[in-house]
Amino acid sequence: IQWFPGHMTKARRQIEDKLKLIDVVIELLDARIPLSSRNPMVDEILKGKPRLVLLNKNDLADPKATAEWVQYFADQGLPAFPIDAATGTNVKEILPRVKQLWAHKIEAMLRKGINPRAIRALIVGIPNVGKSTLINQLAGKKIAATGDKPGVTKGQQWIKVGTEMDLLDTPGILWPKFEDQMVGMRLAATGAIKEELLHLDEIALFVIKYMVQHYGAGIQERFGVQDLPDDMDNIQEMVKVMEAIGRKRGCIVSGGKVDLDKTSLIIIRDLRAGKMGRISLEKPF
Ligand code: GDP
Repeated sequence: IQWFPGHMTKARRQIEDKLKLIDVVIELLDARIPLSSRNPMVDEILKGKPRLVLLNKNDLADPKATAEWVQYFADQGLPAFPIDAATGTNVKEILPRVKQLWAHKIEAMLRKGINPRAIRALIVGIPNVGKSTLINQLAGKKIAATGDKPGVTKGQQWIKVGTEMDLLDTPGILWPKFEDQMVGMRLAATGAIKEELLHLDEIALFVIKYMVQHYGAGIQERFGVQDLPDDMDNIQEMVKVMEAIGRKRGCIVSGGKVDLDKTSLIIIRDLRAGKMGRISLEKPF
């Protein structure tokens, strides 16, 4: 999706309609790039609804960086923890944490002699962060899209998560921030935005540079590269690293030259598939 002001206004209105129905928001972020995968207006849009932050795709993220991020959000008064929506890791933790956020309301209802109803929750996040995967995981089955079956009324459906939580079957879709070029790089590197929107070689260079800076010791082994550049802002030195990776991966065109586009694609694909290890591309401090 390419976001224009009109799309953002529409997305915001759709979330605001859903917010009227719900008690607690589950904000889904990408554990590898929590701030870059966060909507810049999320606090304003959610208007103080109780919120749980989930750092998804933690199977691909650096566990040490994730621990720092959990602390970062806790310092802001936001409970946060990592999950893998795809495999279901930690997904069972969600219900108890949502219950904690809503416990004061339930106690108040009980004091008044009212039988508390199930907590109503909504998942929000930018495209590709794993919202549908998490909804299916929480539902314990594949949820059919409500619109495409004849005779099924369109509109909001609730998914029962045990007896204590009802989840809206369609997530709230938020847009990422665009104005910062580094944010764009991180989003493209992790697959949140289409790589066609940026140059492949630029994204691959960004990944290598970040890895050399933050995962120095492991990088030679991960990329099969002998010499690391002293000056990573020196484009010629960086191209040499790319060529070494390309040769190792057999990205050779006629005349023995390295195909840098193909090499870039391999670097990005390997990163996204976790083949270079668990790597985060953003740190809180
Ligand atoms: P949505 O656009 O937010 O609904 O995102 P999807 O649920 O469609 O997920 C986008 C992609 O991320 C899919 O290819 C999922 O399989 C993948 N995905 C979702 N959760 C995880 C996870 O925890 N780990 C990994 N590695 N991939 C995930």
